[in-house]
Amino acid sequence: MENLDENLVVSTKIEGDEIENILRPRSMDGYIGQNKVKDNLCVFMQSAKMRGEALDHVLLYGPAGLGKTTLAHIIANEMGVQIKVTSGPAIEKTGDLAAILTNLNEGDVLFIDEIHRLNHNIEEILYPAMEDYSLDFIIGKGPSARNVQIPLKRFTLIGATTRAGMLSSPLRDRFGVLLKLELYNAQELAEIVTRSAERLGTSIEPDGALELAKRSRGTPRIANRLLRRIRDFSIVLNHEQITYEDAKIALKRLDIDDVGLDSVDNKLLESLIEKFRGGPVGLETLAMTINEDPDTIEDVYEPYLLQLGFVSLTPRGSVALKPAYEHLGKVYKGGIQTSLFDDEDD
Ligand code: ADP
Repeated sequence: MENLDENLVVSTKIEGDEIENILRPRSMDGYIGQNKVKDNLCVFMQSAKMRGEALDHVLLYGPAGLGKTTLAHIIANEMGVQIKVTSGPAIEKTGDLAAILTNLNEGDVLFIDEIHRLNHNIEEILYPAMEDYSLDFIIGKGPSARNVQIPLKRFTLIGATTRAGMLSSPLRDRFGVLLKLELYNAQELAEIVTRSAERLGTSIEPDGALELAKRSRGTPRIANRLLRRIRDFSIVLNHEQITYEDAKIALKRLDIDDVGLDSVDNKLLESLIEKFRGGPVGLETLAMTINEDPDTIEDVYEPYLLQLGFVSLTPRGSVALKPAYEHLGKVYKGGIQTSLFDDEDD
């Protein structure tokens, strides 16, 4: 094991987006889990095809890495149309969006990731585009100002967001289909990493896949990332297949504990229990205490801690629950604590 770290660096040639694209399933059949979402989508797509119309606009929401982008590509694939991909922060001027919209063909999908980060005046261009398939502009100023309308092809907007609550209601109301993606269970993630291992030209023992799945925070992107790291260990150890032992060794080296928590999760729970007597404590205060960004806590850490039943959210903030105490080997005294501490947080 001595030379592991030096060898690790050379073993992965392509990283990031490129690898993510290799691992992305292209059809509904390859898209594991999210059965309710898939079943409903299939009905809406079939109906749109039978009517000979574009699919209604779709809003996909849920934490990062759950498969929103993947699903948007699959929808376009299954509908037999082109997809144009952009994101809220990437569209800086109204002209940028107008150019994208006017270039769409009949039925095409426009995918806007992080749609909650669209600029307000750009968002306003979207309203008539989504509703009436038209671009409405005002040209000129004062009494000579006039309204110009440019008709658009009937397209499907697919918006993705980690924060449906941050979408303005006029925008949210213009989506005909709202779909919430849930965290995946261990069996689903094990199936995903087994398929991903095949796509990477290797294989993983079923109990290794399950071990990895249990520690992936319910998130395929994390499961795939861990798989790549475990594969590094396996390659260096000269194993033909990724074994259960490789998974155990790698996850330990990566500081991921038995339930998939990393050092930040554990620091968060520790602080919640020790400094705030289990809570409730507001997000900002908690974030400040552990020196993390509140948005990251809300988007990345909280969803999984909620799923594990380690914390609950109350109107006054996060509360640590019994399993969190047990996980950290601390004594649980029961119930929500009320103390002077809590009041500071209001
Ligand atoms: P999001 O857009 O929600 O952040 P992505 O669609 O980029 O997430 O998914 C991240 C990665 O996880 C993709 O590369 C894909 O390989 C994998 N993935 C996501 N959902 C699934 C799924 N349901 N089945 C198989 N792989 C998935």
